[in-house]
Amino acid sequence: MSQSPLHEAEYYDVIDEENQVIQCRLCPIECTLLVGEKGKCFSRVNLEGKMYSLTYGYTDMKIDMIEKQHVFHFYPNSRVQTFSTYNCNLDCDYCAMPDNIGIDPAQIGAKKYAPDQAAMFGVASGSKIIAFGEAEPLISFEWVRDTATLAQQRNLKVLLRTNAYFNKEPVKEILECVDAVTIDIKSVSDIGYQQKCHAGTFEEVKKIIKLIYEKEKLLELNFVIHEALENTEEQTRKIAEWIRKELSVSVPLHLARLLPAHRLKELQPTTTELLERCYQIAKEVGLDFVYLNDVPDHEASNTYCPKCGELLIYRGASATEVRRISLQGNCNKCEAQLDIVFK
Ligand code: SF4
Repeated sequence: MSQSPLHEAEYYDVIDEENQVIQCRLCPIECTLLVGEKGKCFSRVNLEGKMYSLTYGYTDMKIDMIEKQHVFHFYPNSRVQTFSTYNCNLDCDYCAMPDNIGIDPAQIGAKKYAPDQAAMFGVASGSKIIAFGEAEPLISFEWVRDTATLAQQRNLKVLLRTNAYFNKEPVKEILECVDAVTIDIKSVSDIGYQQKCHAGTFEEVKKIIKLIYEKEKLLELNFVIHEALENTEEQTRKIAEWIRKELSVSVPLHLARLLPAHRLKELQPTTTELLERCYQIAKEVGLDFVYLNDVPDHEASNTYCPKCGELLIYRGASATEVRRISLQGNCNKCEAQLDIVFK
């Protein structure tokens, strides 16, 4: 265990005082922990009847373009200071960061930053935005909240990339210090979550997506397409219909190529043909903004005005160009108001 003091976690109950048994309330798994036990996420531990975070402050940092986070409607073509924390409450077979999952970061010599240090890195980077993403940031809930709060006080915008498999109360709290959220949807069925990510349900994830939408945060959704995940045309239709019915046709849906990794590293990447068929279906359902990700120079990576069809934002393999859209988010040709944030 790390020599540095651990940070007491929040969102847990003592359920047996005599035996010091506690139950975590951060995500719907709600692990019950005896003294010395860690949760499924490996990030929260019971020490003498109190819950502590093993990942508070541990993060990698890098600067990226915001489009790398599969976010197209929040400060397009901007640099982002990204914090990549450790561990996850899911265990996806195609996890892109398996080396950062299921570990105690103190034991591998990971770097640790206090919230004010991390926020200052955001300011010093010259970026307008900081992002929490890559592994699952909400596993480090307390550190993300503390850092995001300080970052907003320093006039930075905050983007959260999450799997959304969390309980409502902590999500409501984190939304107080977050400006935009992008959510990776793993499947459109509970069985799909269980089979490919070994935890989670679409029912719980949908509740959190609706909550974020109702809180009027800028919201984008990602859906990874591949036959091996049983995420193809039929599932794309289901998710697009759900977005149209329960959210709005203006919520962007990103269809992402599966890049082989972890337990599925022998697979071939998703074909462009399958991505294009799924794209057509989501457009037929009536969504205004459907994007293909990880398909360089494809026209379905661009943003077009849903009213007049004008090309508004061009996304090439190496650069993004904002072309025909005002800083207020209006199409320069027909003046349609679009839910795209520039300031
Ligand atoms: S956040 Fe971790 S410890 Fe808490 S319920 Fe979820 S998996 Fe268990």
